Amino acid sequence: MIRVSNVSTLAELLARAGELKAVSDSPELDLQLLLCSVLDKPRSYLYTWPERSLSFEQQQQFEQLLQRRLDGEPIAHILGQGDFWTLTLEVNSSTLIPRPETELLVELALAMGEQLDQHKVRVADLGTGTGAIALALASEQPRWQISAVEFNPQAAVLAERNRQRLKLNNVEVLQGSWCEPLCGSFDLIISNPPYIDAEDPHLSQGDVRFEPSSALVAAQQGLADILTITEQALDRLKPGGWLMFEHGFEQGEPVREILRRAGYQQVETHRDLAGHERATVG
Ligand code: GLN
Repeated sequence: MIRVSNVSTLAELLARAGELKAVSDSPELDLQLLLCSVLDKPRSYLYTWPERSLSFEQQQQFEQLLQRRLDGEPIAHILGQGDFWTLTLEVNSSTLIPRPETELLVELALAMGEQLDQHKVRVADLGTGTGAIALALASEQPRWQISAVEFNPQAAVLAERNRQRLKLNNVEVLQGSWCEPLCGSFDLIISNPPYIDAEDPHLSQGDVRFEPSSALVAAQQGLADILTITEQALDRLKPGGWLMFEHGFEQGEPVREILRRAGYQQVETHRDLAGHERATVG
């Protein structure tokens, strides 16, 4: 139980961002988001009314949220939501938190879509999690028919809730393993599968500690699910269709090799905004 003896102004609270430096790469932003959540106001409010004080209850609630962040809990889990592309998605501990680098898959898919016959484009997003990739594509291309597949039933329910809230009726959420629940053939099959090796020290740092390992970790140096999907997708792609993966920044070469060996052509890797090899298409 956190006790609050006196309330502070917004300016005083904003000045406490430094407390979050040890746990966050974006302490100012995190602090602003926690305050906005307590006040139920947009970020501009904090700087328009810096002399305003929180109520006693609000300050109590703020101290509790701040303590959770200081304990390392991801900001998206504390707020129950995260931003991806132009969308705000509900997020919980049953899925991966959508990441900015995954927007590269959305950009690539939209660019490839321009080469397709726009009348009956079918897309599958395998391991959709919150629904991020499928819903971002659906918001940009209302005429595409998008199947979002998720193995974890709780995550599938979350993706369906996000779909309903955003009213994206061109997405269907299917529960099952990779290509298994799909019917018919697809122009684009996209996946951000688990791709981290179980021994990777990155797994014991930051937000990933609070995410399900089923969404992060794969056998065979992180490549097992990419291998499975590559095989399964051969039976589900239309002639001339594309398969597209997100992968680790050191996995460009092995992923290109997996796709080429399976018979995919025009295999190419694209870099994310940080300059890392991040997505491979074939
Ligand atoms: N990019 C994420 C990370 O390194 C992992 C995402 C994934 O495994 N699909 O934290």
